[in-house]
Amino acid sequence: MSALTKSCRHYGYENGMVCAKGMDIRAVHGDALACCRDPKKACPAREDYTTDEIAAAEEQSAKQMEDGFTVISAIVAEGKTAPGDSGHVGCPKCGAGMVLFTFSPSNGHLHAVCSTPDCFEVHQ
Ligand SMILES: [Zn+2]
Repeated sequence: MSALTKSCRHYGYENGMVCAKGMDIRAVHGDALACCRDPKKACPAREDYTTDEIAAAEEQSAKQMEDGFTVISAIVAEGKTAPGDSGHVGCPKCGAGMVLFTFSPSNGHLHAVCSTPDCFEVHQ
C-alpha cells in the first residue's frame, strides 16, 4: 500500500504547511501528518484519491522500483561500487542516454542520473 492510498489529494509541501486547498495543516489537524493517516481526521476540504488513481500510482511505483533495479544492476556489473568510485554505463532503461554514477566517499551512498531528461535518477 502506497502513502498515496491514505493521504488527501491536496496534501503537499509546495506552500509550506498550507495544502493545495489553502487549509493550514497544523491549524486543522494539530500536526503535519494527519492528512496522510488512516483513519482520516475531519477536514472540510478533504478529497481522497480514487481507486483508479491509487492503482495507477502503485503501478508506477512498481515500475520505478523495477527500473531502479535494472539500472543499479548495470552499475554493479561495472564492478566499481566502493565509496568514492564513479563512472558511467549505457542506460538500460532508455537505451539512448548515459548513466553517470558516483558512490559517496563519505557514506557510500549511490547517486546516479541518466543524461536523457526525465529518464532516471536515484539518490540512495
Ligand atoms: Zn536513460
